[in-house]
This record gives sequence, C-alpha cells and structure tokens, in this order.
Amino acid sequence: MALRTREQYIEDLSKMNDNLYCNGEKLNRLDPKLEGCINVLAKSYELAADPKNAELFLAKSHLTGETINRFCHIHQSTEDLHKKQDMTRFYCNQIGTCCRRCMGTDAANAVNAVSYEAQKRPGAKTTYYDNFLKWLKNFQDKDLIASCAQTDVKGDRLKRPSEQVDPDQYVHVVEEREDGIVVSGAKLHISEAIISDEIIVMPTRSLEKGEEAYAVSFAIPSDSPGIKQIVHIRDLRKREHFEKGFTPGYSDSYIIFDNTFIPWDRVFLCGETDLGGILALLFSLFHRHSYSGCKPATLDYTIGLASLAAEINGIKKAKHVKKILSDLIMIGELGYAAGYTASDLGKPEVSIGGKSIPFGPGGYIPNVIYANVGRCLSGENVWHEMEMLCDLAGGFPATFPYEKDIVNPETKEYMEKYLKRNQDISVEDQIKFWLQFADFCVSSSGATTSYGAYHGGGSPIMEQIAITSQYNIKARENIARQLAGMSIPEKK
Ligand SMILES: Cc1cc2nc3c(=O)[nH]c(=O)nc-3n(C[C@H](O)[C@H](O)[C@H](O)COP(=O)(O)OP(=O)(O)OC[C@H]3O[C@@H](n4cnc5c(N)ncnc54)[C@H](O)[C@@H]3O)c2cc1C
Repeated sequence: MALRTREQYIEDLSKMNDNLYCNGEKLNRLDPKLEGCINVLAKSYELAADPKNAELFLAKSHLTGETINRFCHIHQSTEDLHKKQDMTRFYCNQIGTCCRRCMGTDAANAVNAVSYEAQKRPGAKTTYYDNFLKWLKNFQDKDLIASCAQTDVKGDRLKRPSEQVDPDQYVHVVEEREDGIVVSGAKLHISEAIISDEIIVMPTRSLEKGEEAYAVSFAIPSDSPGIKQIVHIRDLRKREHFEKGFTPGYSDSYIIFDNTFIPWDRVFLCGETDLGGILALLFSLFHRHSYSGCKPATLDYTIGLASLAAEINGIKKAKHVKKILSDLIMIGELGYAAGYTASDLGKPEVSIGGKSIPFGPGGYIPNVIYANVGRCLSGENVWHEMEMLCDLAGGFPATFPYEKDIVNPETKEYMEKYLKRNQDISVEDQIKFWLQFADFCVSSSGATTSYGAYHGGGSPIMEQIAITSQYNIKARENIARQLAGMSIPEKK
C-alpha cells in the first residue's frame, strides 16, 4: 500500500531545495508562516489514514492494482467521479476552505487523456503517454501532491500568444534538444505550488497553427533549481486565546521559467496545437467538476455561519433569515446536484462542438454541460453569499476587537459585557464565533478565497462559453419553432 503519512510529507518538505522568494527574502518550506498551508494539505494524509474514510479517500490503481490515495487516481468509472466529488466535499468540510489537492488530480486526469491521443499521432516528438504513465506510477507509489500551473500572464488579453510583443507572456518552448526541451515564461496564481512535490504545466487556452511552441505540457519538481517561485501568503490573524477548530492557510506563487530545461521523459505534449487547446479545456472541465464538491462544502459552512449569526443576533424567526437560508441551501445543493449528474453521465469521451467522441485510454471524464452549469452557478454567487452573510451579521465582524483587548484585565469586563448579544450562549462561544466569521468574510485570506472561488478553473465567462458552445441550442429552437407552427430546417 502506497500511502504517505502527514509526518513523512512534512519531512519530505524539509529536504527540498531552496527556490522560494517571499517579501524580499528566501523562504524555507517549513517557515512558520506556512504552517496553515501545510495543515490544509497534510489533512489529506490524515483523512486517508482513517479507516472510516477508506471508501472515499482510497482507490485501486489501474496501473498496479495497489491501494492508493484517491487524489493520485485516474477515474475509471462514474463511481470514481462520484467519490471524488464526495471526498472533496467531506475534506473541505473538515478544513473550512478549499482543499487544493484537487488541482493535481484534475491535471493528471486531463494529461492522461491528451498524452494518450498525442502519442498516437504520426511524428509525435516523444512517447508522451508512456512518459506520463512513468510519472504517474511514481506519483501514486509515493502518494505525492501536484499543483497545476495553467494560468499564463497573458499580456494584452485581445492578442493571441503569438501576437504578444513579449513572447514570454505565455509559457513556450524556446529550444528542442536531443535530451529535452527548454521553456520560458511564467505561470501566475499557482495555489500551493510551493508545498507540492510536483507541478504539472499545461496551456491556458485554445491554440492555432503557428502557435506550436505554446502547446506544451510537462511535469517539474516544485523545488527544481530551474524555476523560481515568487510567493504570496495569506494567513489568518494568529490566535493565542480563542483557539480555532482548524487553522488553515493559503499560498500561491508566480512560477518563473527562464530557459528551464525539461527532459523528454517529463514532457507530455510538445507542438500539437489542437490537443493543447483540448488539454486546457479538459483540465478546466475536471476542475469545474471538483468545484461541485468544494463549493457545496463552502455553502455548508456558510449556512452554518448564517444560521448561528441569526441565532446570536436573536433574529432567527425573521422572514428575511428564512429567505437567506433557503437561497444559500439552493446554491449549494444545485451546485452539488449538477456535479452529481456530471459524474453520473461521465464517459471516456470529450464533447467537441456538441458531439461526444471517444477520447483517451478509458479514463472517465465528467459531463461538460453539468460540470459547467454547476460551477458557473456557484462561482457567480460568491459575492451574493457574502452579501447575505453581511446582511445577517450587521457590522460586528468588520470591527471586531483584537483578542488581546478581550483578555486584557483592564478591558475584559467591558468586552465581555458588550460582545454578549445572546444570553443563552456563553460569551466565550460568541467571541469564537465572530472571530471565525470575521476570518471567513472580512480577512485578507477570506477575500483571496472569494477571488479563487470566482475565477478558479476559469472565470464565469469561460464557463458561459463552454455551456453555449456545447449545448444543443438548435434542438431547443426547433421545439420553439414546432410550438409556433414554424418550419423546421432540415438537418445538414
Ligand atoms: C485564489 C486563486 C487561486 C488560483 N489558483 C490557480 C492555480 O492553482 N493554477 C492555475 O493555473 N490558475 C490558478 N488561478 C488562476 C485562475 O484560473 C485565473 O484567475 C482565471 O482563469 C482568470 O484568469 P485571469 O486571472 O488571467 O483573468 P482574465 O482572464 O484576465 O480576466 C479579467 C477580465 O478580462 C476578461 N477577458 C480576458 N480575456 C478576454 C478576451 N480575450 N476578450 C474579452 N475579455 C477578456 C475576462 O472576461 C475578465 O472580465 C487562481 C486564481 C485565484 C484568484
């Protein structure tokens, strides 16, 4: 059985090369500032080690038959897609934030399909799929974590990669050598890449003939001396007196590739522009499906916060509270239902121009319409959810006092008197509740998470494009035509 423990993961982090820069200094991976971030990813090892969670967190490798962590698994059935969704919801409920280990899973599943198709092509530059399988076996055997580096800098948004003044606005191949390729450019906002073992790199958009250099995918160790990571950390205000149930953190990095060498056996795509575009879409599809687990989990947490805020404020019976609670429940459960349907309709096929075609070596791919409508619905509601919490809470969380003023003997009595709103709940619990509420809604970490919930896996406009380009709108026009008594155009 190839399962890593929390302790082994942290020990492995301690052995990694120094390639992180933060706020003008080199950053060590075990720096106390990263404690919360490590807590989030390490939790995946703790949860997988608990026999109660085996059904969700463990899977059988299709390569070796060994028991592996589901985050390292290639989905082999609709059942696997369901379990990934439920595992993600469960995990996120334990940590109160996004779990971040899904990125590597989603990237590996997308590369699995695309590298297989690329290897079949005449003139393939290397054995893309064999390379991927070799990488995957090591990934599964060692129970590693991967991040996904998809988002390019992109420069002028209205120009294509090949039209940018600076070609490094998109990661691209600058040289092909006998032993590998050399790449340059940068990937931005890459979540927890600094505490992942591996980074899977892939294109961010569709590509055209002439843009072969940008159709590149590969894996690189996160501590490779060939890259620099410029790190951004969003930690919650440290607690000393009112302990939290779980302390998460969040980091992301700009990953700089400056003539970085990648050996051929780590290259999964190199020059196939059409497949580069499919890879970009496929990762987004798997990732939007993951959101149908994490977003309902965020809604579970939000509903809990909303209901308790109403209770502490004594307004639980008010009409608008019922409306808010039912709105929150609808967003979460419709997002989950869409993901459930996307799992159930999953096939080893991709949808191109509304037509499903067999794709890849048999790994299951979620249904494109349902994965996208669920993600779009829940992504677009992020600020509406915050608005509803703001409505129920009043201004309290925004100006809540510091912990030390609550425990300072000179101010404690006043604080406890004025922070107690509900006579039936201990003042300590009420203080813990509002500190937690403030962490979620009005901290820099909370705001970053909301941006991630809105843009991660692609902005809503990208989901709208995916939905309208893959949905059979013509068939619906024909329903309207028939009901109106209009003529129905013949199929071409
Ligand atoms: C917290 C967080 C974590 C993230 N983690 C990861 C990660 O782990 N890995 C990863 O790869 N990415 C990650 N991302 C990046 C995320 O996927 C992107 O933010 C998202 O895809 C949007 O891209 P962008 O930020 O470049 O915004 P843009 O695409 O620049 O969007 C800005 C605006 O420009 C518009 N726009 C863009 N292009 C055009 C065009 N051609 N025509 C008209 N309008 C246009 C958009 O519609 C939008 O209104 C993360 C982002 C956040 C906020």
